Amino acid sequence: MVHLTVDIGGRPGIDCRGFCSYCYFKHVKDVEPFGCKNCLPFVRGCDYCSRGVREQYSGFKVLREVADDVLAQLQFLQGDLDRITISGGGDPSCYPQFRDLVDLLGSMEVPLHIGYTSGKGFDDPDLGDFLIEKGLTEVSYTIFSSDPRLRAKYMHDPTPEASLAILERLCEEIDVYAASVIIPGVNDGENIFRTCEWLESRGAKGLILMRFANSTEQGLILGNAPIIPGQCVQSVEAFRDLVTELNDTFSLKISGTPLWDPSIGSPFAILDEPELLAKLPRVEKRASVVSGSVAAPFIQRVLDACGNRAPVIGVAKEIACLITIDDLKALHPGALERTVIIPGRAFVHDEEARNVLSADGTDREVVRGPDTLTADAETSMGMERNGVLLMEMEGFGELIRTINRYGR
Ligand code: SF4
Repeated sequence: MVHLTVDIGGRPGIDCRGFCSYCYFKHVKDVEPFGCKNCLPFVRGCDYCSRGVREQYSGFKVLREVADDVLAQLQFLQGDLDRITISGGGDPSCYPQFRDLVDLLGSMEVPLHIGYTSGKGFDDPDLGDFLIEKGLTEVSYTIFSSDPRLRAKYMHDPTPEASLAILERLCEEIDVYAASVIIPGVNDGENIFRTCEWLESRGAKGLILMRFANSTEQGLILGNAPIIPGQCVQSVEAFRDLVTELNDTFSLKISGTPLWDPSIGSPFAILDEPELLAKLPRVEKRASVVSGSVAAPFIQRVLDACGNRAPVIGVAKEIACLITIDDLKALHPGALERTVIIPGRAFVHDEEARNVLSADGTDREVVRGPDTLTADAETSMGMERNGVLLMEMEGFGELIRTINRYGR
């Protein structure tokens, strides 16, 4: 498959008609670079973990620059182009020359995708027809709620009826994956049932629900918690139950992040596949595997099924990829093995992690594990169960090989 990604640039919140009330980029502070797997060994901070993670880009690129990028990429592509995806830090629907951009890309006669849009920059209901005519075949579109008043209030969408009319038109013709951050007391309860009914009756392919996060432990690592002061947040379990109930009630596929995709049984669908667990390598050494609090119990069960005898360490942070040095500082080094495996994408500088985890005087080796062990709901939305199981086999195979290579 040959894909072309068209980056239109832009800044979250700023290049999307102002912040949605729940936007995770709201109140982002100028935090020190975290460190990550891309940093040089003796320097904490690289472009990715100091700038990219905050999506601190300048404004939208002008159309000319976008077109030049496309031309440059086309020269290096080999084979026939299968798909073009429009993406950016800002919201494509707010791109000032959006129609011209789509016109230009549509002339290449290749299926067009919009990676993500809130739709709040769309003001003209006829835009749906235009997009279909120009070859749009898939879009991920934030609905938040089918109630335009809630879109206006929480997304600051000045023309919510138009945005919903376009979404409706797209649902009729192309693959639409809707998305919604669930804010308890706002768009959950009866409201989310009405939203699902709306999407089902219009023909949406799927809906991804995102649990609202409001604290550092829940993933707000940019010094910006709380996003909505005083707003209550669902427990991971209550959120998972809501996802299950909705998916059982409606015909479109409904999944949630951080948990879960009921139609596939992921993340960690492999736990229901004893034959696949038996095919993973056996754990032969001891190492402390560190992960987020949501994934840790699942990882423990998979590794134990492969002969592991060491505890998997869950930190306070719920999501493994958002672990920072503060999470490692909160661990008791004395409880750790001589080898510690941290998530591949943790926002930690390797050298600093080694120092923190050796603070009790025992020198520990810190090694990065795989970037992913499973598919989150955004990844699994367009996947078959076998594809997710393959990802998990590869991820756990790599993790176990890392334990056996570096463990004691
Ligand atoms: S559209 Fe997305 S990036 Fe922009 S303010 Fe809303 S949540 Fe943030």
